[in-house]
Amino acid sequence: MSQYDVVVIGAGPGGYVAAIRAAQLGFKTACIDAGVNKAGDAPALGGTCLNVGCIPSKALLQSSEHFHAAQHDFAEHGITVGDLKFDAAKMIERKDAIVTKLTGGVKFLFQKNKVDSLHGVGSFKGKNGDAYQIEVDNKGEKSVVEAKHVIVATGSVPRPLPQVAIDNVNVLDNEGALNLTEVPKKLGVIGSGVIGLEMGSVWNRVGSEVSILEAAPTFLAAADQQIAKEAFKYFTKEQGLAIELGVKIGDIKDTGNGVSVQFETAKGEAKTETFDKLIVAIGRIPNTNGLNTEAVGLEKDERGFVKVDGDCRTNLPNVWAIGDVVRGPMLAHKASDEGVAVAERIAGQKPHIDFNSVPFVIYTDPEIAWVGKTEEQLKAEGVEYKKGTSGFGANGRALAMGKAKGTIKVLADAKTDRILGVHMIGPVVSELVSEGVTGIEFSASSEDIARIIHAHPTLSEVLHEAALAADKRALHG
Ligand code: FAD
Repeated sequence: MSQYDVVVIGAGPGGYVAAIRAAQLGFKTACIDAGVNKAGDAPALGGTCLNVGCIPSKALLQSSEHFHAAQHDFAEHGITVGDLKFDAAKMIERKDAIVTKLTGGVKFLFQKNKVDSLHGVGSFKGKNGDAYQIEVDNKGEKSVVEAKHVIVATGSVPRPLPQVAIDNVNVLDNEGALNLTEVPKKLGVIGSGVIGLEMGSVWNRVGSEVSILEAAPTFLAAADQQIAKEAFKYFTKEQGLAIELGVKIGDIKDTGNGVSVQFETAKGEAKTETFDKLIVAIGRIPNTNGLNTEAVGLEKDERGFVKVDGDCRTNLPNVWAIGDVVRGPMLAHKASDEGVAVAERIAGQKPHIDFNSVPFVIYTDPEIAWVGKTEEQLKAEGVEYKKGTSGFGANGRALAMGKAKGTIKVLADAKTDRILGVHMIGPVVSELVSEGVTGIEFSASSEDIARIIHAHPTLSEVLHEAALAADKRALHG
């Protein structure tokens, strides 16, 4: 039986990063993962993020953005394109090639760092003294390994909708939505969260008529509402996404001739809409399927998350859990940071993760990004704050790019000027938000950002100007 210092279960961005870091720190490490490639004929590392999440969605967003720009924006640059066509199958092929490259990259990194990659479903079997026994089941071929430390990184799966089963033919989860080889004429999306908006945007840009049905009465409730309202206006008024908030979803039927969805609007009107395809994107739930937590008494909370403390320690000695399977935002970078921190804790180091400076990004057009507290949160907490806002409308770089839409808002403590939140909607704000993250992490004041030289002409000047505005020194506002 193979014995390891560290066995990681799950090779998503939490698990694979934890395994690499553990191996780098000198531990004999294995990473067990059950993932298979799209064809179903070979193991695929990288978890949800690389295979059916972050990366493939960004690949499709990029392709669809190019098509949309060629259709709508090229003319003003003096570029005429002839008979413009869109080939969805080709877009998916490109996306698949990127996924294959990156999942292969994780395999290479495992080899380079001497992480044993074990393919199959990992489950707790019991204990041998202080060591945990983990069974690896590769399609019925079973083996057992022993580990001094176990890191559970089994991620999440889509939350099911009780009314309808996902078949990934007509009723799709993220996996199906990322693999459509034809543009659906009418696309329904249930859920206006990050995944619903990103997938809705992709198919909307390439010609689908997209309706998004959302149960919550507030659009993007977790985001700063000034930014959320601006986003709602762009998506609905300019891009033609039909977003209906506060709906109650009733029966859903796959008739063979479309998927019909009955729902009640916020005003109490009963409606039925029929879509060619329906994406169900109502959130994700922690995945402990097949883990056999009972064998060792690994505790979960009432929602199924593995219970951990702030340092990712579970109720069992030397068993840790990270990423989507534990509390906190379901984000790849949060999972990876927890993975690194746990490996370093096992090595006796004292890493620290600041959960207040986790950036959130939605890759729509314009993009939405934020870090820290929203105005709504500060009001609810009774914190006195000041704010500075600046728009992309007069930013030279944004105008040159043809993307002069959006706003950046800096929120700072009224007395100390310490930055409490940075909220953005605009071009490539997924990159700009890092400056806010660094600012919050280093307890910067809005004046600090205001006094830092920002290159001209860049999009980052909008953040500079917002910081100046918070400091009552705006130059262009
Ligand atoms: P996962 O990535 O889910 O990996 C878990 C792995 O464990 C999987 O490979 C699974 O097969 C394996 N596994 C599970 N159980 C077992 C078992 N018993 N034995 C062996 N293996 C097992 N996040 C971002 O930060 N940015 C984005 O842009 C972004 N976009 C997204 C887009 C979509 C469409 C989706 C669905 C998600 C997106 N996310 C994004 C979220 C991100 O994918 C997750 O937060 C991230 O993958 C979580 O990492 P993880 O390591 O915890 O789990």
